[in-house]
Amino acid sequence: MLNYTLYKQHTLIVGSGSAGLNAAVQLQANGIKDIAILSEGFNMGTSINTGSDKQTYYKIGLYGQDKDSPENHAHSLWDGGSMHGDIALIEASLSARAFLNLVNLGVKFPQDAYGQFVGYKTDHDPLQRATSFGPYTSREMCRVLIDEVKRRNIKSFEKRIAISLITTNDNGNKRASGIIAINTEKSPEQAIEVFMAENIVFAVGGPAGIYKTSVYPLMQTGAIGLALQKGAMAQSLPESQFGAGSTKFRWNVSGTYMQVIPKIISTATDGVSDVQEFLLPYFKNAGAMNSAIFLKGYQWPFDTRKMIDGSSLIDILIFIETAIKGRRVFMDFRHNSTNFDFDELSDEAYAYLKKSNAFQTLPIERLRKMNPDAITLYEDHNIHLVAEPLEIDICSQHNNGGLATNIWWESKNIKHLFPIGEACGSHGVYRPGGAALNAGQVAGYRIADFISNCYDKNTLDETTFIDATLKELKSIETILDIGKKSKTTWQIERETFQNRMSTYGSHLRNIDKLKQAIQSAWQQYERFNQESNQWQTVIEMAEVMRNQQLCLSHCIYLEAILFQLESGVGSRGSAMVQIENGKELHPKLGKDWYFQEQNTDFINKILETTYNDIDRQTKNNWIERRKIPKSDAWFETAWADYRNGKIFDV
Ligand SMILES: Cc1cc2nc3c(=O)[nH]c(=O)nc-3n(C[C@H](O)[C@H](O)[C@H](O)COP(=O)(O)OP(=O)(O)OC[C@H]3O[C@@H](n4cnc5c(N)ncnc54)[C@H](O)[C@@H]3O)c2cc1C
Repeated sequence: MLNYTLYKQHTLIVGSGSAGLNAAVQLQANGIKDIAILSEGFNMGTSINTGSDKQTYYKIGLYGQDKDSPENHAHSLWDGGSMHGDIALIEASLSARAFLNLVNLGVKFPQDAYGQFVGYKTDHDPLQRATSFGPYTSREMCRVLIDEVKRRNIKSFEKRIAISLITTNDNGNKRASGIIAINTEKSPEQAIEVFMAENIVFAVGGPAGIYKTSVYPLMQTGAIGLALQKGAMAQSLPESQFGAGSTKFRWNVSGTYMQVIPKIISTATDGVSDVQEFLLPYFKNAGAMNSAIFLKGYQWPFDTRKMIDGSSLIDILIFIETAIKGRRVFMDFRHNSTNFDFDELSDEAYAYLKKSNAFQTLPIERLRKMNPDAITLYEDHNIHLVAEPLEIDICSQHNNGGLATNIWWESKNIKHLFPIGEACGSHGVYRPGGAALNAGQVAGYRIADFISNCYDKNTLDETTFIDATLKELKSIETILDIGKKSKTTWQIERETFQNRMSTYGSHLRNIDKLKQAIQSAWQQYERFNQESNQWQTVIEMAEVMRNQQLCLSHCIYLEAILFQLESGVGSRGSAMVQIENGKELHPKLGKDWYFQEQNTDFINKILETTYNDIDRQTKNNWIERRKIPKSDAWFETAWADYRNGKIFDV
């Protein structure tokens, strides 16, 4: 049996992104003292390693005559489709509190001379609720939250990779009771650590590690598979965001990168020969093409509503060059496209550039004028936009789906498990840009309120916990033992499922190809359980175990996508469904590009997905989404409900 070190915590927060960090702070502020953060490291994950041209935080309107309210705000979230109304109302109601907490901790969101927080309009936002610290909003959020975690002396276990979620039976209900992790600073013999905890806050971020073509930072892999393996219910798994990103250094090429209208070219695989302006033949003229490129600035994610004569045609055309023709695509800021002419731009693009005083001759000059930091950012990563073109592709960026929770962010079917941040699937088909960061912060308040009021005692039975742990350790030991004789490496296996996911489970979906992909996916998972992967060092040991949950995750995601396609949902969000007798995408693109239109009935439904590890079956099921609750409380009765804890009845 594997040796292990045992730790006990009342509440363990797994993950130290912006969501996990705030959860820790709020738990302690609510009196839960015995807490700890377990993560790969404070410098790991998406939040602290990513951003974009103007990384957006979506908050309730706080400026001038903004006619905003929690219900208005909730509608903007809910209108994206397939989002529960009560969750939307909560994300709206706690938005101001979460935002102002970040301000008070030191994030310098822009204010005017009167202390008002001025906003701008982001995608799927009818008002001007968005704000930004600049390219690194989420990194700055992490920085101030890490300072606060340290100021509060909250315990942390860094350099740990969680490899198993321990669940036990509690009066017939499944509950979370601990985590098994690998301490990557120890020798393999001493690396296993077991954390027993009354509550697990699961802030492990998005499933970055299942994709090959991705703009998630390399420092994020994700661990939703640990919860899926234990049967935690997920929702909206097929709803992800995809869009254009640079690949040498992973970064969204949204905002000014597109608004300065660089020349977009493709080349042969050497990156220099056979240069083609491949977009041009698909547009009426250069003006229409350049106006569409401009629009990609604030219509960043690939959006199936904007494919025909819209800016999302560009994503399709880039994909055809890279994934289908095997060519490479670049944005060249040193040149305008052939026949570029400001006077031929759409009114919208022309007016924007005029207002921004950005009529300089070359894209790089316009970029320097409008957003010089955008150039420096790449220079910091040894890419010089003045001297070289920037390679791009269509990448996965964010999962709107994730684990399913109730209104206190407790897993729908595993008690004491609290998925928050990107690991939680609270968003629907579309979400306003910036809503992900808001949702992650809001969840911290909810779980802290709930845990401090309802789950503050120690109810775990240690004997039951140790029994479950030993069983879990036995199966980990088996995987590690067979790995010693395995013929395959974790890198080869990971690349295989990442390629499969990026090809069949990304923004282009095809029912027949998906069926084949799912067969191969399960075969790979079976093979993993039979043969495992080679390892020697402690890092390899952790990566092998990580492959298990990542490989399983990609199987479950693909199953959910197939179910959605078979249900006839059609193209929606950031995923186009290819179908023989569908709608023509573009006269110059053949029948392969006919697509199925959206069946809008599904806007009011949510797809729930649960996996059973005993029979290896994935169950998918549509439920009606819950409406936005009416806000008609009377103060005296609401006060009473609050005082006697009735608000926690779920
Ligand atoms: C390029 C890009 C641009 C984006 N722009 C925006 C934007 O403008 N607005 C917006 O709202 N959202 C944006 N997003 C999405 C947003 O940044 C993320 O959803 C958010 O930062 C996720 O925060 P999180 O705390 O949930 O997870 P993360 O920040 O990813 O943190 C996850 C944590 O879990 C840890 N972890 C994972 N697996 C394990 C394991 N097995 N063991 C131990 N620890 C583990 C990680 O190390 C990390 O500490 C963007 C995302 C990308 C990639």
